[in-house]
Amino acid sequence: MPLYVIDKPITLHILTQLRDKNTDQINFRKNLVRLGRILGYEIANTLDYDIVEIETPLGYKTKGINISDLNNIVIINILRASIPLVEGLLKAFPAARQGVVAASRVEINGKEAPKEMDVTIYYKKIPTIRPKIDNVIIADPMIATASTMLKVLDEIVNKDPKRIYIVSVISSEYGVTRILSKYPSVYFFTVTIDPELNNKGYILPGLGDAGDRAFG
Ligand code: URA
Repeated sequence: MPLYVIDKPITLHILTQLRDKNTDQINFRKNLVRLGRILGYEIANTLDYDIVEIETPLGYKTKGINISDLNNIVIINILRASIPLVEGLLKAFPAARQGVVAASRVEINGKEAPKEMDVTIYYKKIPTIRPKIDNVIIADPMIATASTMLKVLDEIVNKDPKRIYIVSVISSEYGVTRILSKYPSVYFFTVTIDPELNNKGYILPGLGDAGDRAFG
């Protein structure tokens, strides 16, 4: 199962700051950017590459690696909390083309953790995805019930990209299972998997509302 939990000391250090309720808006955003960059390089390590031969300025020939797929990246930005995460991803993938999806979820206040949320996609602009060529990275820092992500995935899968990557910071156990049981070949990158959702669909222990914490 292509599930990558990037729980290294540096990502967990940044995650701890994100979770801390005393981290202010500026530092919250900065930390999301830092994680985006790190996760981007982790994703880059899984892209296909070719062995190439180059010549150094000293006239020596040597073998090296060329990740040609760095030019075949489309990043989908699920507004609004993913904006700083994508800013970081773009440091790893400067040539990426970008799409945006604006979705709103209807707030609920049930007795139990919801199994899905009522999600409306009210704006969407996605560049051309070349079948079997482009690698699509869908960014959402918080994957709770995964209802939004599944809606976006349903559409992206139909375009038949070479690979689909999900990049998140905190995913719920339920959300990960839901996505990978429907789309087992999706590459799922997250920093951590949290165990629970509350009755409003927030991840526990989580970090609160990522959009509110990043933008007010
Ligand atoms: N979105 C958030 O910002 N936080 C959560 O806990 C769940 C979804």
